[in-house]
Amino acid sequence: MVGRRHHETVGDVEAAWAAYARKAAQEKPVGWDGRHRLLDTGDTVPAYVSDNRWVADCPACQGGIACWSQNPRGACLDCGRIYQIAFPEDRQEIEAVLVQRPTQNRHWFVGDPVDMLIAENIEHGLTEPVGRLEGS
Ligand SMILES: [Zn+2]
Repeated sequence: MVGRRHHETVGDVEAAWAAYARKAAQEKPVGWDGRHRLLDTGDTVPAYVSDNRWVADCPACQGGIACWSQNPRGACLDCGRIYQIAFPEDRQEIEAVLVQRPTQNRHWFVGDPVDMLIAENIEHGLTEPVGRLEGS
């Protein structure tokens, strides 16, 4: 979820965030405003699917946030803010329909009904699952 390495646990992910924050202390990326710690906003942002991945948008800087259903939190590494991530109640149904599509066609936006995804799949003759979504 962060960097090149695959992280197995929420603890691994959050340790990678902390390591990134330590690096930010030295490199002083613009969005971090000189901070060297992640800022837990307590705010909630909705997750959506873009290109086969669960992601969210940072309300502060519009940066992308990688989301993972195992972790109730997500970090924007562009500005160092942490948010609560809200997955849709029908996440599993959404994923079940999207995995029938080629990975580049796996998108779901907040509010898109599952029935619409199913209808699009039928229109394209897609009914068999292939692989899985990142962050599921
Ligand atoms: Zn941000």
